[in-house]
Amino acid sequence: MLRSAQQRLLLYWIFLLLPALGIGTGSIWLLHREQSRILAQDQLNRQNRLAAVAARARLIAENLDTLVVDVQNGLMATLRAAPADASENFLRDWQSSNPFVRAAAGFPSQKISSAPSGTDSALAAWAATGPWQNDSSARLFANNLSATNDIDNSLLYQSSRANLQNISSFNKPAASPQAAEESSPPQFATPPRADSGWSPWLDPQQKLHLFGWHQTAAGEILTVAVNLDRLQRELAQALPVQLEPDESYTLRSHEGRPLATVGHSSARESYPSLSRKISSAPPTPDAIAPLSSQTLPGWSVQGFLRPASTFIAPTFFYTSSLLVALCVLTILGGGALLLRQARRSEAESAQKTSFVANVSHEFKTPLTTIRLYAELLEQERVREPAARADCLRVIARETQRLARLVNNVLDFSRLEQGRKKFARESVDLENFLRAALARLAPRLAEAGLRLDLQLPEFPLRLDTDPDALEQILLNLVENACKYAASGGELAVSLRAVPAASGPAAAEITVADRGPGIPAAQRERIFEKFLRLDNSLTATQSGTGLGLSIARQLARGLGGDLRVTPRPGGGSCFILSLS
Ligand code: ADP
Repeated sequence: MLRSAQQRLLLYWIFLLLPALGIGTGSIWLLHREQSRILAQDQLNRQNRLAAVAARARLIAENLDTLVVDVQNGLMATLRAAPADASENFLRDWQSSNPFVRAAAGFPSQKISSAPSGTDSALAAWAATGPWQNDSSARLFANNLSATNDIDNSLLYQSSRANLQNISSFNKPAASPQAAEESSPPQFATPPRADSGWSPWLDPQQKLHLFGWHQTAAGEILTVAVNLDRLQRELAQALPVQLEPDESYTLRSHEGRPLATVGHSSARESYPSLSRKISSAPPTPDAIAPLSSQTLPGWSVQGFLRPASTFIAPTFFYTSSLLVALCVLTILGGGALLLRQARRSEAESAQKTSFVANVSHEFKTPLTTIRLYAELLEQERVREPAARADCLRVIARETQRLARLVNNVLDFSRLEQGRKKFARESVDLENFLRAALARLAPRLAEAGLRLDLQLPEFPLRLDTDPDALEQILLNLVENACKYAASGGELAVSLRAVPAASGPAAAEITVADRGPGIPAAQRERIFEKFLRLDNSLTATQSGTGLGLSIARQLARGLGGDLRVTPRPGGGSCFILSLS
């Protein structure tokens, strides 16, 4: 029976444990795969976004280049339109009226050393290098500052654009378009020697200038210095505003100074009303697109991509695994609780069966004795008055035993259902003890126990339920009679407990000189239906309810019941009352 119960339990565990662990391991494996997939997807997304940011940075740089070239073209067109006879006045007016012109000056001839008086010092210094005598004025700049890519998209685009403009403005009549095409190669394929040009230039203080020059038909050199501060403001305005929320772009000068930033940045978030703000951008750019070396060499557009949220990949796996582990633990925990409950119910039902058997036996014994003695008396088979008195005493004793048993069973069911009510009244504990023990004297005498009653010097009153108290005392004395009769003595004492020692006001101790109770069993004997497995319990009848009821009653009265070994041998039950 026991073996099969254990086997059943093992089977339950296997059925619970294996699927739960299987589900857990499977889920964690799936989670791991999902995490790897998310990681790969994340990386791909990031790469795509980086490529998009690089492409947009390039586009912005090209747009800015176009804007600069447009400004250059506009200025150059004005230079070309300067009247041959009054260029000085024209340039002065131009300088004061055009916000893009920082300085303008005309050099009467190719004698570059003779700068007109009042010429801007940087312009004069640049002109002294005779840029119009070199084929490529850009080289001047390239010597000073390494341009990142000389042949860039923007440059190609600009030269194609200039070429197309040349073609479209070419007006030499041809015999027929086809003939012209076939007979002579296009004359603009090799442009004539330049009579104008642009030259970005670094002065000795590393300040960037953008100069333009044009040689008039009369040989005069007209020069212009672009107002870069103004140009920079215009470029900043031309940066795009509609961006993805995770990207930002910064325009940087050749010195690495941030000139304008658009897109996400902590600075912009704290000033949400500003659509653009000059601010320092995050340190390492994700993409760099330089402006053309012909326009603003060294300037660049830097793209930044906000780092991807680090939440998803690493935490996803750990959080989900934790949840799975929790689920598995919950299943196992729930299963374990159910199994424990099932085991408890099984044990309780076994205890109840043995309780019913015990109680029936307990009832049967006194009833049989009473019936036997009553029949003896009825049939007048006992004639001696002394023997008749003995018979009556036995009947009275067995009736008391029955009453005790019935009271215990009734109290037990009331306590179990929480229906037990206590009728408290002021009780003089000394009188109560004397009276209760007097009623128990025959039982003590029968067991051969001498009563040693110790009472306090002063009367002790307490608000308590005397019936419940008597029921507790009865169970303790009955146990002493059953299990400690060999000791020959039972000490019952009452004492007041000082207020400082705890909530209890009084203590009643019932101490015997029996075999005592092993330390490991001292708490267990208060469990319901529990009877110790020893030779004493084998010879004494009982239900295993007495001490359980006694403790529940004591606690119901606001006190407690516990057992300690009695010095010199035996057990000492201490009932504390408050
Ligand atoms: P019952 O007496 O009906 O068996 P109890 O709940 O009154 O049930 O007691 C539980 C067990 O505690 C007893 O079976 C007995 O083994 C042990 N016990 C109780 N009182 C004593 C005692 N005074 N000395 C030794 N053992 C005791």
